[in-house]
Amino acid sequence: MTEKTIFHRIRDKEIPASIVYEDDEVLAFKDIHPKAPTHLLFIAKKDEDFVPSIDDLTEETAHVPGLLIRKAQKFAQEHGITGYQLKFHVGKGGGQEVFYLHLHFLSEQKLADD
Ligand code: AMP
Repeated sequence: MTEKTIFHRIRDKEIPASIVYEDDEVLAFKDIHPKAPTHLLFIAKKDEDFVPSIDDLTEETAHVPGLLIRKAQKFAQEHGITGYQLKFHVGKGGGQEVFYLHLHFLSEQKLADD
């Protein structure tokens, strides 16, 4: 594999992050520079699900955005968050800085623990 991104290193627990959700498929953590009261990032964990950007999706990885969206939806329901935005930044021109596909989850509602 080419060099690890910062999100590989968060996934592999080489650097700390404020993890709010984890299962076998997905990890969600707080964005370090939040743009809303709740700003989370959802990433797929499995190496076979790794894709740098929406622009790099293939038939093999086409399920990954749906996986991230489904986990975000479940997370919101479980935390009583009823309004939120989901975003993918695509490519440098689209504001993407980290080339490990991630779903931004933004809400004006705070998590109960925050
Ligand atoms: P994007 O512009 O879509 O690539 O978004 C990357 C996001 O990752 C930005 O909102 C950053 O604030 C966030 N970010 C960068 N480094 C970290 C980190 N170590 N922990 C949490 N979030 C990070």
